[in-house]
Amino acid sequence: MRRQAVQLATSRKPKVVKQPEQKFPDYFGANVFGDAAMQNYLNKEAIKAIQNARNTGEKISRNIASSIAEGMKRWALDQGVTHFTHWFQPLTGSTAEKHDSFLNPDGEKAMATFSADELVQQEPDASSLPSGGLRNTFEARGYTAWDPTSPAFIFENTSGKTLCIPTIFVSYTGEALDYKAPLIKALNLLDKAAVDVCKYFDKKVSRVKATLGWEQEYFLVDKALYFARTDLVLAKRSVYGFTPAKGQQLDDHYFGKIPDRVFNFMYELEIEAHKLGIPIRTRHNEVAPGQYEFAPMFEEANLAVDHNQLFMDLIYETAEKHDFIALFHEKPFAGLNGSGKHCNWSMATNTGVNLLSPGKNPSDNLQFLTFFINSIKAVHDHANLIRASIASAGNDHRLGANEAPPAIISIFIGSTLTNLLAEFEKNQINKKSDNPESILVHNIPEILVDNTDRNRTSPFAFTGNKFELRAVGSSASCAGPMTILNTIMANQLVEFKSKVDAKIKNGNTKKIALIETLREEIKASKKILFEGNGYGEDWVKEAKNRGLENKTTTPLALEALESKNAHEVLVKNNIFTKEELEARLEINLEAYILQLQIEGRTITDIARTQIIPAVNKYQNELASTSIALKQAGVNASSNLKILETITQHADAINEKVNKMEKKRAKANTLEKNKEKAHFYASEVLPYYEEIRNHVDELERLIDDEKWPIPKYRELIFVR
Ligand code: ADP
Ligand code: MG
Repeated sequence: MRRQAVQLATSRKPKVVKQPEQKFPDYFGANVFGDAAMQNYLNKEAIKAIQNARNTGEKISRNIASSIAEGMKRWALDQGVTHFTHWFQPLTGSTAEKHDSFLNPDGEKAMATFSADELVQQEPDASSLPSGGLRNTFEARGYTAWDPTSPAFIFENTSGKTLCIPTIFVSYTGEALDYKAPLIKALNLLDKAAVDVCKYFDKKVSRVKATLGWEQEYFLVDKALYFARTDLVLAKRSVYGFTPAKGQQLDDHYFGKIPDRVFNFMYELEIEAHKLGIPIRTRHNEVAPGQYEFAPMFEEANLAVDHNQLFMDLIYETAEKHDFIALFHEKPFAGLNGSGKHCNWSMATNTGVNLLSPGKNPSDNLQFLTFFINSIKAVHDHANLIRASIASAGNDHRLGANEAPPAIISIFIGSTLTNLLAEFEKNQINKKSDNPESILVHNIPEILVDNTDRNRTSPFAFTGNKFELRAVGSSASCAGPMTILNTIMANQLVEFKSKVDAKIKNGNTKKIALIETLREEIKASKKILFEGNGYGEDWVKEAKNRGLENKTTTPLALEALESKNAHEVLVKNNIFTKEELEARLEINLEAYILQLQIEGRTITDIARTQIIPAVNKYQNELASTSIALKQAGVNASSNLKILETITQHADAINEKVNKMEKKRAKANTLEKNKEKAHFYASEVLPYYEEIRNHVDELERLIDDEKWPIPKYRELIFVR
């Protein structure tokens, strides 16, 4: 199997990509029901209704929905579409769809119809999707409801096209069963809270949108090699594999020339993404061989989340067309860099101001400092929720490993801003004589964007005009962390405003009230600021002294969902009900347990049915060679030594696999997910590493011809 796979993979030719009919970049958005399509297919009233829904959240009436459905259908039919689907993001982390045809028989003929009902609401029988107990299967109804803030689009398969309508997914009783419903609530909450604070500075601000620019990392592996590795297929990561003599240590892959076969895949992917209105701009090789990254221009956060989910689907499908499999796992290969999804986040006003961009003069800077310092305070107060939002079995392998931010949430802001905050905090205001503007000791230089230090080890870093949350895993939806980040920011802004207003009421000027409150917020949150090396052992100790949490496993991180502040911030602000929060905890724990269970089974399976049989063959060969050597009167001791070592490793594997299976059997008897997850983390998982070490040693000792599964060097260098 391995030999054939390697042969197939190394003999592949780059696939030529069909050019689009329109020239670059005219096809951008061609598959989106955006402004241009709406102008052609909708009346003014309908366009206005969609715009209002986007800008002010206004509901769309049934009548107008009916005319929108008709226009959307005509547009879709003109593009050759036959089916439509509500497109949603259930708590599996991927996207879901159930296609219906427009076809409606009418006597002997058929018509294409699409009603308001079909546009606005659907009832997929999605009873097998995770609900965390919110829905019993006997009343399994879940509804998808149209989200007019994200435009409908056409997904093209090799043959056939489908109209996709972005929707939220809720249960019969109204609980959110997806990532999008709480995200939209969080974005609305932030909008309101940020507008209220912006009014201190500019009365014209009436809308604040969170912005998100994600960076998607992934690995490409040849399809034939992938299918020869049971672990990649089932567990989405390699559970065995010795890091080759040459891995990433030369850093010669990073930003290197993109191989032709990979380039063609990227080229086709970009065409498809651009047709879908996904503003991809950057493509490059990443640090590890076989690892790549794509990044778009940032967008409004809800749309950016949809675009990321859609883009991941596109990466996967396009890769397959080029005989690659795309791996989104956070750590598919031990000893090589893992994959993340950096989430660049900021806020923008309807007046065109980026609220995290330092301004030209001190009073603009006060607005910048307000949003900047409040971001720090929000993350300081609710770091546990951020940590929980990025927790998964896959990300556990990455957080704290040598190339990824640690599990300790801290904030990096660079030396310029560190000094500025220190001075800002120290300065006392003499309310009578000081001109408050002069208190802002520095004009923050406009070139800040270019001179912020790049600290790659920080999980949350200020990068000139935005924060970058780097701790998100590559396979995760951005929606989870974005829901938390925007909610805690909104919550903080509301608290901040009430403190400022109280000071104004007490007779302070607005500026003094703002400055004094900001100073208090810096004092209260500065322990989360850290400029040093986040990978170092020293940081673990120092963070502990500072009282910062270091939740190293998913079950530990998820404890935050039961904390007091989770309730105060998420439930009181109506982002989640108490039940929804409990359900999410269950779903996340279950996902963790299932992943570890699959990994455990895979480890056992490969060891028993592939590794040990291969070892036995080689043992046999060594044994008979040794006998032959002896008979020929030659010293066979070095042969025997290898035989002995190999046998020791094989025995250790057998023994440890049996022990691990006993532990797993014990885990399965535990009833509560929480207990089971902790048990897996502390009692079962350590065996995975131990068994692996023996297998990886064997990989170095056994005849290469006999090794049953593709080696790392084949997986990562063949393309
Ligand atoms: P790099 O981090 O590689 O230097 P950039 O700073 O240009 O590159 O941006 C990285 C990502 O941050 C891009 O996806 C970009 O769209 C996004 N980004 C830039 N400005 C903002 C913003 N105001 N809000 C959200 N994302 C942003
Ligand atoms: Mg970046």
